[in-house]
Amino acid sequence: MRCGSGHRRRMQMRTECLDCPSKTPATNTESRRWILLRLIKSRLCLSQLKNLQNAPKKTNVKTLLEGLKVGRVVEGCDRFGVNQSEFSIQQGCLMRGIRVYIPPKLRQRVLEELHTGHFGVSRMKSLARSYCWWETVDRDIEDLSRDCCECASVKKNPVSVAPHCWEQATEPFQRIHVDFAGPFLGMYFFVIVDAFSKWPEVKIIRDMTTDTTIDRLREYFVTYGVPSVIVSDRGVQFTSDQFREFVRRNNIMHKMGAPYHPATNGQAERFVQTFKEKLKALKCERKDVQFELYKILMAYRRTVHPVTGKSPSMLVYGRQMKSRLDLLVPVADLKVSSRGEEEPVRCFTVNERVAARDFLGASKWQFGTTG
Ligand SMILES: [Zn+2]
Repeated sequence: MRCGSGHRRRMQMRTECLDCPSKTPATNTESRRWILLRLIKSRLCLSQLKNLQNAPKKTNVKTLLEGLKVGRVVEGCDRFGVNQSEFSIQQGCLMRGIRVYIPPKLRQRVLEELHTGHFGVSRMKSLARSYCWWETVDRDIEDLSRDCCECASVKKNPVSVAPHCWEQATEPFQRIHVDFAGPFLGMYFFVIVDAFSKWPEVKIIRDMTTDTTIDRLREYFVTYGVPSVIVSDRGVQFTSDQFREFVRRNNIMHKMGAPYHPATNGQAERFVQTFKEKLKALKCERKDVQFELYKILMAYRRTVHPVTGKSPSMLVYGRQMKSRLDLLVPVADLKVSSRGEEEPVRCFTVNERVAARDFLGASKWQFGTTG
């Protein structure tokens, strides 16, 4: 392929000329090593994708890219047997619909990114459907999930849970379900799940007393508002007079599950179970737990929930939260507004008569001329 415009060419000089057959093998090897090093050290980003898609290897993709550029329909085998109209080039990247094509070298790295938080096949596939595509993406996801030791070590037979139907919540943070998890590495976790959006919140706590519970709930209310209903089990934190008084003062209806029947609080229960499995799968050290927790929450909040068919982020904010995966998809360059930042709000010429607001003196305005 031909190198792009002058500006782009300068930016990608070190990598883009991989395509040029005139380059010596030594330079090629060096450039490739440089790409891989950058890839390992940094995030996946657009320029890396672009360069690897254009790599000199005789792949279908190169023929397809050429075909798309000149508007020629290529052989079926050179477009993965997919209708060519589904493909396009955006900022030098091959796209299938909204998904960016991932070249073989980057697939493992992308799979790992999709598997952040060790969520299962269906969640990974639904994430992939929003961002990336390659001919064997579904199979690779299934293989990765099946072969992941961490996932396998905590896999359980599904537990049958007696269904308990709560009335449908109609908006986010109207009804929340709370529960505790732990101890894990000497830490406890306070888990809150919103019934409407399934938005999870997990706070690391030092103990499970009523004081701590109320503190964490106050923190939650500041961010998401006071709910109408809190659902919990019959733990001592929730049956204490202090907690009863707390919910009364906040005008919250407190519902407790049936005794010895924790499944009533299914929403939180299920998330706690998922969360415990993730923690076990992590095998991380105590100092890394908070960081790993952030990753789990981020992945969960962004992933389509099987019950709602939407991600918690979508239901709470009406948009998908950005993550590293978003770096894969090319976006239009941000345009600088017609009114540049340098432009002053008001312009004066020399010797122009002006009035200045005086905030200290007796008279409101001071008059003069510009010098
Ligand atoms: Zn896993």
